[in-house]
Amino acid sequence: MTDLDAAWADRWLRECARVMAAHREELIDLDRAIGDGDHGENMDRGFRAVVEKLDEGPSDSVAAALKVAAMMLMSKVGGAAGPLYGTAFLRASVAAGERSALDGPAVEAMLAAARDGIVARGKAELGDKTMVDAWTPAVAAAGRAGDGEAALAAAASAAEAGAQATIPLVARKGRASYLGERSAGHLDPGAVSTSYILRAAVTAAVSEISAGGFE
Ligand code: ADP
Ligand code: MG
Repeated sequence: MTDLDAAWADRWLRECARVMAAHREELIDLDRAIGDGDHGENMDRGFRAVVEKLDEGPSDSVAAALKVAAMMLMSKVGGAAGPLYGTAFLRASVAAGERSALDGPAVEAMLAAARDGIVARGKAELGDKTMVDAWTPAVAAAGRAGDGEAALAAAASAAEAGAQATIPLVARKGRASYLGERSAGHLDPGAVSTSYILRAAVTAAVSEISAGGFE
């Protein structure tokens, strides 16, 4: 099993940047349908800034890497998502604390802290058609899984299902709520970007194995 350590956290954030760049146009299109069309640009710009900061020197803990993400997302990403994801990564950093690596319960605690930060900041409830609809099932799934890697994998799959489940919902928070009933029938862009962030955490855990863990 891969250690979910500082090197993993670094790979996770770099993978987030790669995935947000790859899905930039898709997230823009999703946000254009029920918002203002900036979500893909916001996420791409934010994680590019995170990588620039990481390039200045290695983080010596999971918490330190996640704190870099929090600071850069808060300062570089406008709109609703910047402060929400910034708070999520900041709370995740505090939850990771002094641990050199995360086990299953620590992954669950980290994801729960992130979700709770988003809820504290944005006041959205489950079913309001926001990123909370991806985070909340992710936290629950992580709690039912075993080791850290299994917890991440369960969380990512649950977030993907949670994002898909936003399609029929009517938005009650954020810009999409201005559309009322017309917001139904579309994916929530923030729930989709959350599923990308959590899938990136899995990819970062698996990628070390393919990079030489079998010798
Ligand atoms: P903006 O809506 O300001 O243009 P973005 O387009 O970057 O910001 O982000 C939109 C996403 O933010 C939505 O798809 C939704 O998931 C999330 N969001 C908006 N408001 C809230 C809120 N109050 N709580 C949780 N998530 C929210
Ligand atoms: Mg937007």
